[in-house]
Parts: sequence; structure tokens; C-alpha cells
Amino acid sequence: MVAEPKVNSQVLERVVRVYKWLDTQLHQAGDLAGTCDICGKCCDFDSFGHRLFVTSPELIYLTANLRGEKVRPMTTGRCPYNIADKCTIHEHRFAGCRIFCCKGDKDFQSGLSESALKEFKSICTEFGIPYRYTDLATALNSIAEP
Ligand code: SF4
Ligand code: SF4
Repeated sequence: MVAEPKVNSQVLERVVRVYKWLDTQLHQAGDLAGTCDICGKCCDFDSFGHRLFVTSPELIYLTANLRGEKVRPMTTGRCPYNIADKCTIHEHRFAGCRIFCCKGDKDFQSGLSESALKEFKSICTEFGIPYRYTDLATALNSIAEP
């Protein structure tokens, strides 16, 4: 009982580290990263024709940062955290949300994605967390409370 919060906080710190690393890479990449107009269209996956996959450590991190709010299920093709075309969990958004830009370079994005996934896998191995990499709807619906 005593060890669990410590492990969890270490997991959270490691996820933050991945996100910070991604943000730095994207900031330094200029045109390769693309310029996002923050229109929110790509968060409506069905209409945009885009998919987002997330990992188990990221779900642990999101849950820990919802400040008591229940994880929202995904009942439509749009991310439930996109409200009025704005991301309501912007600070805690997933790696895929950070990496994807409709105007960015796809190879650059793939490379960043691979590096981030490697780190998330390492976190799972280190802390004994089952590694999952699932589409957003499956991921949120598997942990959302009724
Ligand atoms: S977490 Fe935010 S950026 Fe990511 S899909 Fe949902 S609303 Fe969009
Ligand atoms: S990546 Fe493109 S579609 Fe998505 S919010 Fe930015 S400008 Fe809009």
C-alpha cells in the first residue's frame, strides 16, 4: 500500500518527461512539425479521417490529472475532450495529439511516434504495467466509469 503511490508518481513523472521531450522536438523542428491553427477538426476522427492511438502509461497519467473527474467515454467519432473545437485537457493531451499536425511532415511524425512508443514501452517494463496501444475510443471506453 505504501509503495504504490511512489510507483505511480514515478510513472507520471516519466510520462511528463516523454511529453516534454516531444514538445521540445516539435518546437525545434520548424516546418517539419507544421503549424497548427488549433481548429480542432482532427479531434473529430470520423469526419477528419484520422485515428489516434494511445498507450497505457498515458491513460494512467490522464486519469491521475483529471482531478477527480471521471474518464469520459467516447460515444461518437469525436474525442470527448474536444468541446466546442477546443481541447479541454490540452496540458495533458496524448503523445499522438502533440505529434500530429495536418501540415506536418509524416516521416518526421512517424519518427517521433516511434521514439515516444519506445519510451512508453520502457515505462511499462520498468513498472510492471501491461503495455497497451489502442485506439482512443477503445482506450477511454475500457476505463470510463458508467
Ligand atoms: S485529447 Fe485534446 S487534442 Fe487530443 S484528440 Fe482529444 S481533444 Fe483532441
Ligand atoms: S492539426 Fe490541422 S486539423 Fe488538427 S487542429 Fe491543427 S490545423 Fe486543425
